Amino acid sequence: MIICKTIEEARAIIGQWKAAGQTIGLCPTMGYLHEGHLSLMQASRADNDRTVATVFVNPMQFGPAEDLAKYPRDLERDCAMMEELGVDMVFAPEASEMYLDDFCTFVDMTGVSEGLCGRSRPVMFRGVCTVLTKLINILDPNRMYMGKKDAQQLAVVRRMARDLNFDLEVVGCPTVREEDGLAKSSRNTYLAPDERLAARCLSRALRHAQESIAAGETDAAALIEQMKAELAGEPMADIDYVEIVDGLSMQPIETVREGDLVAMAVRIGNTRLIDNFIAGDPLIEVAR
Ligand code: AMP
Repeated sequence: MIICKTIEEARAIIGQWKAAGQTIGLCPTMGYLHEGHLSLMQASRADNDRTVATVFVNPMQFGPAEDLAKYPRDLERDCAMMEELGVDMVFAPEASEMYLDDFCTFVDMTGVSEGLCGRSRPVMFRGVCTVLTKLINILDPNRMYMGKKDAQQLAVVRRMARDLNFDLEVVGCPTVREEDGLAKSSRNTYLAPDERLAARCLSRALRHAQESIAAGETDAAALIEQMKAELAGEPMADIDYVEIVDGLSMQPIETVREGDLVAMAVRIGNTRLIDNFIAGDPLIEVAR
């Protein structure tokens, strides 16, 4: 497995692969890998000649009061996991390699990026769109793999790729969960043992909403109330948002149809967790 820290090194290798007619799958991450990240790399390995993963904690997508400094990092451990899985190249630049001192160009979006997480984290999607545009320009992938766990991010990136004519396919991969239903996340490492137990309330509330939809409920307001009431039963949970939106535009809807997104962000202590399902997805398996 090749590990590149500079744009020049990465470009040289990509150039060789492209000259040989090989296809490239890209899996962008912020590192501290878990099975969710690895599932993207597995999907890429199945579809492409070469799989490239990036490990970059992108300062541009963190707000001033957010967890940039304490975000967990362990590149050595990440590389061992990726090597075992058969990743061909890891691109892990320093922030100074990606952003020169006088950097001043941004990729910004309206609409799709403005509600849900975009409301509570106003700089995040501008940071995500800008860094992914750079990574796509550097690594020239045929396909890019992203998790459905970050459903709004996936919708934002699909729209960016369409609007700006990026010549690549964006592939959405299913959310990988812990045995009790909690969506895997690098941020789960922040949770103290009692918080980790409390965090089950997200997937449980989503599962119950799935059951209500399966039983015929289509009223978005009623489903949101049901989920909020259930989350309120967990004293450690502080709701950021619970919303039901159109799966492409991310705009609120009133009547739930297949393909709509049911999404929530909830703070457990100081840790902000997100989770979601798409109406029509298989039922989330939660601990009883
Ligand atoms: P992150 O390192 O958190 O920026 O995530 C990198 C990529 O992995 C994003 O496309 C995420 O959506 C995806 N990802 C994170 N957690 C999961 C999960 N539990 N299941 C599937 N994909 C995930």
